[in-house]
Order: sequence, then structure tokens, then C-alpha cells
Amino acid sequence: MKNPSELVVRCPRCRERGTWFAASWGPFCSERYRLIDLGKWFNEEHKLSRELRPGDFEGFDDDLGTGPHLDRP
Ligand SMILES: [Zn+2]
Repeated sequence: MKNPSELVVRCPRCRERGTWFAASWGPFCSERYRLIDLGKWFNEEHKLSRELRPGDFEGFDDDLGTGPHLDRP
């Protein structure tokens, strides 16, 4: 298995590729970006636009077909 610090990953913020896990702020390319992203979560900029409702999944089960693998009457 590779050493994580040699792993080339993409910075979630600027999409730059590099061995960001070599630093403690990986996978971000800089500590600044890590803190910005963290701040966004705290400010709830990153979140679901609304709560999911049962109707959101309507139509998604049509392709399953029927069979003993389905827990249905
Ligand atoms: Zn970056």
C-alpha cells in the first residue's frame, strides 16, 4: 500500500492536483483552503436545500421489477 503522503489527490477547493495528504491540511492544497471549507460547513453554506420527502423517491423503484429478492407482498 502506498504511503498516503505520496498519493496524488485533487484539492476539493481549487481542483489542483498534488500530494496534499503530505501536509496536515490534506486533501486541501493549503491550510487556508481547509479552513475556508470548514467555515462553510459551520455557516451552513453546504447543506441540503431542503429536507427529503418520501415523494422524492417516487419513480426510482420502477426499474426494480418483481421477484423474491424484494421484500414485498
Ligand atoms: Zn487548492
